[in-house]
Amino acid sequence: MCIGAGPAGLYFAISAKIRDAGHDITVIERDPPGATYGWGVVYWDDLLDMLYSNDRESAQRIRAESSLWQEQSIALRTDEASYLTGYGYSVNRAPLLEVLASRATELGVRIEYERAAEDLSEFSDADLIVVADGANSRVRQRYSEQFGTIVDQGRNPYIWLGTDKVFEMFTFDFEETPHGWVWFHAYPSSAGVSTFIVECQEATWRGLGFDRLSDGEGVRLLERIFARMLNGGSLISESRGKAASWQRFTQVYNQTWRHDNVVLIGDAAHTTHFTIGSGTRLAMADAMMLAQMLIGHEDTAGALKTFDEQGHAALRVAQAAARTSMAWFESIDHYTDRSALEFGYALAARHGRQPPWQYQRHMITQNRVVRRGLRLANSCRRVYRARRRGESWR
Ligand SMILES: Cc1cc2nc3c(=O)[nH]c(=O)nc-3n(C[C@H](O)[C@H](O)[C@H](O)COP(=O)(O)OP(=O)(O)OC[C@H]3O[C@@H](n4cnc5c(N)ncnc54)[C@H](O)[C@@H]3O)c2cc1C
Repeated sequence: MCIGAGPAGLYFAISAKIRDAGHDITVIERDPPGATYGWGVVYWDDLLDMLYSNDRESAQRIRAESSLWQEQSIALRTDEASYLTGYGYSVNRAPLLEVLASRATELGVRIEYERAAEDLSEFSDADLIVVADGANSRVRQRYSEQFGTIVDQGRNPYIWLGTDKVFEMFTFDFEETPHGWVWFHAYPSSAGVSTFIVECQEATWRGLGFDRLSDGEGVRLLERIFARMLNGGSLISESRGKAASWQRFTQVYNQTWRHDNVVLIGDAAHTTHFTIGSGTRLAMADAMMLAQMLIGHEDTAGALKTFDEQGHAALRVAQAAARTSMAWFESIDHYTDRSALEFGYALAARHGRQPPWQYQRHMITQNRVVRRGLRLANSCRRVYRARRRGESWR
């Protein structure tokens, strides 16, 4: 039994079924098919390598739904920008979940939509209950003592929007208002639409009146603040019929992810701040690791124990990076008096100590010709990695 048809729950069902077709797996999801929050999520080659080695079929479909972005641009007050080299991918949550749900169904998984888990006693006949119902997991809340749960809220309000302005690069823009700084990061996520996530400090948010404005008024105000970067484009608040609202990031830690035959995976078990773009990858990695542990152990208890230990160990680096990244954005005022070049470096280096040559590298890569050369080198690397994992390169 699996609670929640997000990336964690669906990918667990797929991973368990391809390892043992005899498993009888039901996934329950409180929402109807196709309903989901948010827009695109970014990921890198490491996720594609993992997906291709685990289930080639769903990996290919996810890759086909994804967009490629190259380089990051970090603008301070629109006009001045610095650049970071590299590339990544992004995929909208809705097609990602459609791919995973259809693959799971093909493999014989039952998905029951519009069924919310209320109490674990409903599943007393299940050998294993995989809890994958996201950051605000109800089951985890009910058993918080057993899991040793700690939940904190991030200080900055953020809102997850779309835009019809197509950003080809992964783009940051920081704008100064009379009430403080407001910034967004945006990236392409599907044909003609980019993901657009806005963040600011609490005092700025109140000062600008976002706590009092209606959804529509708030979005119009953001369009005015970022007018030059949007260049005539509009922000889109509604995703699948629901307007986006301002949120605080929920940080989730659990001392243990298991209790009897119940196991937490994905955001129900742990979250990592969205500015490091890793939550979906970690949720799918949990799913795959758990399926592998179940096949590799004779008893479920042993599998869950190993999953808990190895999963926590594997998460440490990402969780530390996410905490530092969230804190960096919460103290943005410490950095905005720098030049765009220095500011871009501070943003890139926010995860921790950098090797001494990193700063020189940042300076050199501001040169357009150098960047063009690196873009070419990265394209070769990308094609090499795509071929190595068996992807037909594009
Ligand atoms: C603004 C923002 C930007 C992000 N950007 C990125 C990014 O760029 N890259 C990245 O890798 N990650 C990103 N993430 C993180 C990513 O969205 C999550 O880590 C990921 O969705 C976790 O997957 P999950 O399956 O654990 O949870 P979810 O995706 O939240 O899925 C949980 C599912 O459980 C269902 N559910 C909830 N309660 C119940 C119930 N009682 N019964 C039945 N079903 C229930 C929900 O409806 C949902 O479908 C971002 C997150 C945010 C907030």
